Amino acid sequence: MSTALQERTTQYELVVGMEVHAQLLTRSKMFCRCATDYAGAPPNTRVCPTCLGMPGALPVANRAAVEATIKTGIALNCTIAPTAVFARKNYTYPDLPKGYQISQFELPLCEHGYLDIELPDGSTQRIRIRRAHLEEDTGRSVHEGLFSLVDLNRAGVPLMEIVTEADIHSADAAYAFLTKLRTILRYLGVNSGDMEKGALRCEPNISVRTLEQKARGEYGTKVEVKNLNSFRSVRAAIAYEMQRQIDLIERGGVVEQVNMGWDEDRQITVLQRSKESSHDYRYFPEPDLPPLVVDRAWVERIAATLPELPDAKRTRYIEQWGLRPVEAETLIGEALVARYFEETVAAYGAENGRAQRVANWITGELFRLLYADGEGQDLRQIADVKVQPAQLAALLKLVDDKVINQNTAKKVLEMMYTGGEDPHTLVAREGLAMVSDTSVIDDAILAILRSNAAELARYRAGEEKLFGFFMGQVMRATKGKADPNAARQRLQELLEQA
Ligand SMILES: [Zn+2]
Repeated sequence: MSTALQERTTQYELVVGMEVHAQLLTRSKMFCRCATDYAGAPPNTRVCPTCLGMPGALPVANRAAVEATIKTGIALNCTIAPTAVFARKNYTYPDLPKGYQISQFELPLCEHGYLDIELPDGSTQRIRIRRAHLEEDTGRSVHEGLFSLVDLNRAGVPLMEIVTEADIHSADAAYAFLTKLRTILRYLGVNSGDMEKGALRCEPNISVRTLEQKARGEYGTKVEVKNLNSFRSVRAAIAYEMQRQIDLIERGGVVEQVNMGWDEDRQITVLQRSKESSHDYRYFPEPDLPPLVVDRAWVERIAATLPELPDAKRTRYIEQWGLRPVEAETLIGEALVARYFEETVAAYGAENGRAQRVANWITGELFRLLYADGEGQDLRQIADVKVQPAQLAALLKLVDDKVINQNTAKKVLEMMYTGGEDPHTLVAREGLAMVSDTSVIDDAILAILRSNAAELARYRAGEEKLFGFFMGQVMRATKGKADPNAARQRLQELLEQA
């Protein structure tokens, strides 16, 4: 067999495991009482002897951070350990004042979970969660000219690390996993989901293997990619790295175990440093913290506080409220959107297709206004929209009651969006109520027929498509307020009489 043919017939499987770091939304840091609101704060103003790593300062575990991690573990179908142990991960870095990071190693808080994801082709896949554990964030180095400065405001902020098994086999699956994980973390209220602010970070471990290797249960050498600032970058980095490794192997090269960075401008991975393995960190149990004992009753109390999660919502929207899957999927993707939708349905009703109508207005008109507002497509902005759910419900009722027509309702929504006023107030003040009075409509039609004699003659001669022309004139003459059904009916009748 020729080399060229071999190249064409060699098939590779992509193998990706994901490490996700999520800052927990607690008020204080992981092991001290310092505030976590470091964003925008002057450097080194959220620090104390504990998070500065002063000798003799003792850490105390943050209960809220432990509960947030247990909550996440439950949502990710993990086993919650009855006893978890904090461990020291030793390494030296300028922004790590203690010279070690307190983490969890052999006995993490959560293990053996899974998350089912939906792939672009409509199939679902189960991604196993190896572990979710608690640790602390590092400080930040700031490089200014010849100097390197350090800001320790972030040092000690609670960080949850979620590690998957190497179950991800495409860049799209990685994207779907991360998107769903972020949605769940936001539903749980444990993490902001802000990748651009570094509150959520992910590092894929990427390798490829031939199908022969797969059959023998072997894996390729994995490369870890860092500095990824968006899920889109993660997807691009995985696709790029997969091709790089395959090309390397095809040329007879060997993939080395290294850390790569992602160059967003050039859309390529670049070598950072050779990778440490876990024995380099010399983990040992943290002597300053007792083992974390988690009794069943505590776990059950936390489980009882879990909100309805995206999958359950989707099912409820479709099965109980009759939503089309496409709108259900859009609405559940962001916790604040789902809440807005449910509050509107609560005010408007769900029966007889009403929930679907609400869904159409939110995913159609309201999203259009949100997107037009600049600020990218961040649907979390729905929380700041001036149109209250009850006001949107009132607007839809005005359409149902034939007070305004569909097109006027869109205009009214725009005004509500800008000014936050009530739809009733706006309709009354702007004189937008629909004209159903046939005498008014008749007057308009007759005037139009008089001033468009040529078109009328052509219509009579059989050019029926001119009906649309007349209809447009009627709507224009009534400033779009004519009841379209009444107008259409009267136009038909008057054209026949004329
Ligand atoms: Zn502190």
